Amino acid sequence: MPIKVIQGDITQMKTDAIVNAANTSLLGGGGVDGAIHRAAGPKLLEECKTLNGCATGQAKYTQGYQLAARYIIHTVGPIWQGGAKGEEELLASAYLNSLKIAECLKLNSIAFPNISTGVYGFPKEKAVEIAYNTVNLFLRTTSTMEVYFVCFDAENLSLYQNKLI
Ligand code: ADP
Repeated sequence: MPIKVIQGDITQMKTDAIVNAANTSLLGGGGVDGAIHRAAGPKLLEECKTLNGCATGQAKYTQGYQLAARYIIHTVGPIWQGGAKGEEELLASAYLNSLKIAECLKLNSIAFPNISTGVYGFPKEKAVEIAYNTVNLFLRTTSTMEVYFVCFDAENLSLYQNKLI
């Protein structure tokens, strides 16, 4: 099974790339973004400053610096505003564009956090559906990549585990 669900801290993953749930500035923030910047070290911010930000639903990549992962793929999930502002499509795009970068870089493994389900407030159950379906479709049609969903909280972990069964 190329999709794996685990609970933990994404900064510790030894996959070829980890995905960052960044904001449009790409200059760091709280939550998983802050944890990744702390673990990767200050050179990450230096490289991020050269990227000119990132639109919601898009993705850009940097080196992993002090992380075990070689690359960090920075994507920007949508802020949940009730569901009528294209949030579902934008979340799917964030996953898909991250996977496309991983494929372009010929990576064998990638780890995703639960994008937008923290301060961005995306309903967790809906987010799991979108994440899982987007990754599953991508793997079925184009790739043999190993994909990890790294859940930080127990609620997301059980939602993902139920989805995989
Ligand atoms: P967003 O702004 O996209 O909602 P957050 O960082 O607030 O981003 O939250 C996204 C998800 O990342 C949440 O489910 C949160 O629990 C999780 N998270 C926070 N820190 C870590 C970490 N170190 N490793 C993995 N996931 C994390």
